[in-house]
Amino acid sequence: MEDIKVNFEKNSATALKDQNLQRALNNAINQFRNVRSRAVREFEEWEHLRASARKIKEWTIEHLDDYLEMLEANVIKAGGTVHWASDAKEACEIILDIAKKHNVKSVVKSKSMATEEIELNHSLEGAGIKVVETDLGEYIIQLANERPSHIIAPAIHKTRDDISKLFVEKLHTPYYNEPEQLTKIAREKLRSEFLNADMGVSGVNFAVAETGTIVIVENEGNARLTTTVPRVHVALMGIEKVIPRFEDLPTFLNVLIRSATGQKLSTYVSFITGPKRNSDVDGPDEFHLVIMDNGRSKILSHEETRESLYCIRCGACLYICPVYKKVGGHSYGWVYPGPIGAIITPQLLGIDKAPELPFASSLCGACKDVCPVKIDIPKVLLELRSRVISDRRVGAGFLQRFAVKLWRFTMENKRIYNFASQLSYFVQKPWMRHGRLTSLPFPFSRWTKKRDFPAVAKTSFRKQWKEIKDLEG
Ligand code: SF4
Repeated sequence: MEDIKVNFEKNSATALKDQNLQRALNNAINQFRNVRSRAVREFEEWEHLRASARKIKEWTIEHLDDYLEMLEANVIKAGGTVHWASDAKEACEIILDIAKKHNVKSVVKSKSMATEEIELNHSLEGAGIKVVETDLGEYIIQLANERPSHIIAPAIHKTRDDISKLFVEKLHTPYYNEPEQLTKIAREKLRSEFLNADMGVSGVNFAVAETGTIVIVENEGNARLTTTVPRVHVALMGIEKVIPRFEDLPTFLNVLIRSATGQKLSTYVSFITGPKRNSDVDGPDEFHLVIMDNGRSKILSHEETRESLYCIRCGACLYICPVYKKVGGHSYGWVYPGPIGAIITPQLLGIDKAPELPFASSLCGACKDVCPVKIDIPKVLLELRSRVISDRRVGAGFLQRFAVKLWRFTMENKRIYNFASQLSYFVQKPWMRHGRLTSLPFPFSRWTKKRDFPAVAKTSFRKQWKEIKDLEG
């Protein structure tokens, strides 16, 4: 895996200047917000459903080892093979070994954030194996040689015109601008890839411990073809994807699909329990489930941030986030963008690799309000911020720590606070315009270059309040 160091500030500054990106994000996000809120509004029991989903996740994560062992036993019972991967390297090696054992020359993949996380395509291609992404968004991203910028809609940063030009350049087609025409081209190209593939690789939305069933949710039918046409199917999942019982599925399918696409149910929901049986018409000869840790048990060991593992990757927090809406997914520098990326990336990669991400939020709390499993993202962000600050080797320099201490000292002493307020009022005067501060000198200019700042009031809130009350009699 390449050595990653996220530079959110630089990435987001570039994104903000990209008019094309701003247009693409605006259109797609506004549209999604409407359909999601309609899907949620029409479901009367929504809050009850969220609470149930949260409860099941809490229970499962607290008993994760038991349910993972139960899952393993039941996958084996159904004729599948289970592999355990402690990190990305090991997961890639396991999948590569399976491919080599079966003399695999070509692989079709359905959408999977876990395979993005381990950079599986690089490993397979490095071994001379052809890999084709079959989800339309992922196919576009693969043609463009980019990373997905959204968990559910990987090519959300591209306009229709971008995609039309990409098809002309890479697939040598005429310039078509209608989504139906573009989809038809991709469909025709992909059909032969499915038929020629030796191995299919998928992700997992949920893995049911009591039956050993993996569940995949999609709309295009490509995941169903990926998991049934080739002779070998490999599914990769993070340890947090397990759920205890089959009867938990309606809760999770309901919250996931409504939150992800605003549908009541997706077009396809595949339930896969082991490989093809003698009585089955189609399906793979072998089914392999790779269960991956890759930093997740480290998250599990921290009680304050453990709930990050409840995430079902619905993408709703991305659509609602005012920061994501402006800077897009690539600004987050790795596989997971938006609010979930801001909490999961520093925990999976190490906080020194992404110290800016916990600060990439206004803490407005919209992500917490939409999250179908009620993850308190602002709380986790604050915890990660405090880890960045207290880790003296990263992020917080002497000046920053001094400033925080000074701020705390001032806020804890009423007389000093009043004095500092009065002093600030007079010091700020040269930069005051209509009650706002603009064009402040360095280092404050880093803030006022892009936005103004409320000026310190002449009289304190307490005094103003008292004056109002006195006037009221
Ligand atoms: S954090 Fe919540 S809203 Fe965001 S992707 Fe995960 S489950 Fe969805």
